[in-house]
Amino acid sequence: MLTMVGYCWLCHQNLYFAHHGVCHVCHQQLKRRQHVCPRCALPSESGDVPCGRCLKYPPPWQSLIAITDYTPPLSQLIRRYKYHNTPQLAAVLARLFLLHWLQGYREGRWYKPDHILGIPLHSKKRWQRGFDHIELMIQPLSRWLQCPYQPDLLQCSRATLSQRGLSAAQRKTNLKHAFQLRGDFTDQHVAIFDDVITTGTTLHEASQLLIRAGARSVQAWAICRTL
Ligand SMILES: [Zn+2]
Ligand SMILES: [Zn+2]
Repeated sequence: MLTMVGYCWLCHQNLYFAHHGVCHVCHQQLKRRQHVCPRCALPSESGDVPCGRCLKYPPPWQSLIAITDYTPPLSQLIRRYKYHNTPQLAAVLARLFLLHWLQGYREGRWYKPDHILGIPLHSKKRWQRGFDHIELMIQPLSRWLQCPYQPDLLQCSRATLSQRGLSAAQRKTNLKHAFQLRGDFTDQHVAIFDDVITTGTTLHEASQLLIRAGARSVQAWAICRTL
């Protein structure tokens, strides 16, 4: 795979700003949904009020923010980033998220967080991949938003099996008490970042820890949301 410095990762055209990684046209063409539930980011009739499921079983987080569904081209870009040793895509994906987040922020849909946390990667996985893909995306976000990020505040408390290929119920058991949270989050707005949110089980566990540690609100951030 070519490293495409100066070219758009999606359409391979020359970029005016090489560091952007994705051109303006491709950015505009990302298939964003018109209406998603603000709490779970699943398709809904109106983007303003939570869906029926979230009203009945409110998740511990206030908003779930993802750029698009887990569909091409972002799903392909994420796979290339994680599984094809392409850490240079971290800032490209982070920038796409930033633009998406800023739009909602300007419209008053969510707060600026006081802290960003990342869903921790098990050390074995990090070793296999050679980099922590979550940490690499949060670093530029934290810089651009001037929002503190300390990678070790949320940690794996024991070896969890990979979540891939497990049912929702199995994921829940697998994750029980999987994380440890350090620090006092009293009255803080906190964002938790993951690359892709699927069942939300991981996020649920981490958000509950934050609420118990006093957090005022939790935002779930992701590049993509699986339907
Ligand atoms: Zn392009
Ligand atoms: Zn919902």
